[in-house]
Amino acid sequence: MTVAPKILVADDDQALSRTLSWILKENGYDVFTAPGGEHLFEHLTAEQFDLLLLDIMMPKVDGLQLLQRVKADPRFKDLPVLMISSMPPEEATVRSLGLGAADFIPKPFRVRELLARVKAHLRVGRELNQARAEARSRSEMMDIMQEVTASLKPEEIFSILVRRVAQGLSIARCSIIMANPEDGMGNVVAAFENPMLHNLQVDLKRYPEIKRALTTGETVLVRDVQTDPLYRGVREEWEAEGRPVQTRSAVALRFSLRQQPAGVFFLRTTTEDAPLNEHDVQFAEEVIIAAVAALERAYDLENAVLGQEQMRHLAETDPLTNCFNRRALMERLEHEMDRAARYATMLTCMMVDIDNFKQINDTHGHLVGDRVLKQLANLLKREQRSVDIVARYGGEEFVVLLPETTNAESRNFAERILRRVSAHDFGEQGRPVRVTISIGIGSYPDERVSDADSLLRLADTHLYRAKSDGRNRFRD
Ligand code: GH3
Ligand code: MG
Ligand code: MG
Repeated sequence: MTVAPKILVADDDQALSRTLSWILKENGYDVFTAPGGEHLFEHLTAEQFDLLLLDIMMPKVDGLQLLQRVKADPRFKDLPVLMISSMPPEEATVRSLGLGAADFIPKPFRVRELLARVKAHLRVGRELNQARAEARSRSEMMDIMQEVTASLKPEEIFSILVRRVAQGLSIARCSIIMANPEDGMGNVVAAFENPMLHNLQVDLKRYPEIKRALTTGETVLVRDVQTDPLYRGVREEWEAEGRPVQTRSAVALRFSLRQQPAGVFFLRTTTEDAPLNEHDVQFAEEVIIAAVAALERAYDLENAVLGQEQMRHLAETDPLTNCFNRRALMERLEHEMDRAARYATMLTCMMVDIDNFKQINDTHGHLVGDRVLKQLANLLKREQRSVDIVARYGGEEFVVLLPETTNAESRNFAERILRRVSAHDFGEQGRPVRVTISIGIGSYPDERVSDADSLLRLADTHLYRAKSDGRNRFRD
C-alpha cells in the first residue's frame, strides 16, 4: 500500500485555495490548507509534508519571507516548495528560486502543468530522502562490518554486534544466545545491557520467542508482550511471581554458523522505547548475516594454532571473499597516496557496487548472494595487474586501486570488467544468475582530492551518478 503524498497549500485567495485543493485531492493527494500563510509553521510541525505550495503575495505575510524562514529551518530544508504568484514571472522566479524554492508557478495556472510540476517535485523530494536514508544505513553497516571483520575472537564479535545494533536502533536490550533448536537451555554470550556478562545459562522455557525462532527458523517479532498470545503462559508466571514486566516488544532472530542453526539474536524494548518494527528486524538481519563469515572464521581460528604472519594475513583479509578488508585497504590507500604525491604519478580508485543486489538475495537467497560476492571478487582479482589492489569495502561494494594509471587506462579497465561481469554466469552450476555492476572512478591528482578519504568520496559520488544514470556503467 502506498501512502498518498501530503501537500500543504498556503494561499490567501480562498476560491483559489479551494480549487487547488479539489484538483489535488482528485488526483490522489492528501491536501491540507493554511489560509493566508498564517500558522504555517504550526502546520509544518504537526504533519510531515511532502510538498508546500506557497503564495508569494498574501495580505498579512510576505510569501518570500516565509520561504526564507522555511528554508532556514533544518527540519524543512529538503521540503520542496512551489511558489505561486501573479507577480511578473521573471522577477518572482529569480527571487524565489534564489531563496531555495523548487519551482515557480505563475497565476493563473494551467491545471495540467501544475499537476506535472507537483508530480516532478514530489519525485525529486522522495528520491533525495530515500538516497539519504540508504546512505545512512549503508555507511552504518559498513562501519559495523569494518569493526567486526577486524576482530578475530568470537566473544569480541558478539559484543560488537550487540553494542552496535542496540545503539543503531536506540534500544536498551540486545543480546546473543547460543542454543540448538532441541536445547532446553541457552547460553547468553553477550548482552548490551550487561557488558560484563559471559556464558550465562538461561532456561528457554521462559523465552517463548527464542524457542520459536530456534525451532522454526523464522524471525519472531512481538509488538506487544502484554497482549501477544505467545506469552500467555509466561505472563501468568510473571504475575504469580509479582514481577513487573518491563519488556514491551521483542525480536528473536535465528542465525546459523556453517549452515547449522547456532543461536538467536535477541532484541527487546522496554516500555520507554518505541516498539520494534519490520525495519528494525531488517537492520538486525543484515547485520547478523554480514557478520556470520567473520564469526565462522573466528571460531576456526580458536581451534587453530597460528603464527604471527598468518594472524596478520587473517586480520587483513575479508573472510568471505579473501580480498583485502577495509582496514587493509585504508592502510594501502594512504601509502599509495603518499607515493603518488611524492613521485607525481597518478592513482585511480574504482568503487564497484553490485546492481540491485538486494533483489538477487531476495530472489535466490543469501547463500547464493554470498556466492555471487565470492565470484565477483575472483573475477576482479583475475582482471587486476600485480600492482593493483582489490578490497571488499563493505557489503556488496568493492574497491580496486590502480596505481600509476591514467584516465584512459582506467576507463578501458572499467569497460572491460563491466563487459566481463555482465557476460559471466554467476551463482550455482545450472542455475545462472545475471549480475551487473556500477563503477565510480576517482583519480588523483584532482582538485577535489587531498587525501585517501576525499579520493574515496569522489569515487563514491561518481558511483552514485552511475547508479542514477541507469546502472551497469561507469562514471568518472
Ligand atoms: P543498487 O543497485 O542501488 O546498489 O541496489 P542494491 O540492492 O545493490 O543496494 P542496497 O544497498 O539496497 O542493498 C545491498 C544489499 O546487500 C543489502 C544487504 O542485505 C546485502 N548484503 C550486504 N552484505 C552482504 C553479504 O555479505 N552477503 C549477502 N548475501 N548479502 C549482503
Ligand atoms: Mg548495490
Ligand atoms: Mg551498495
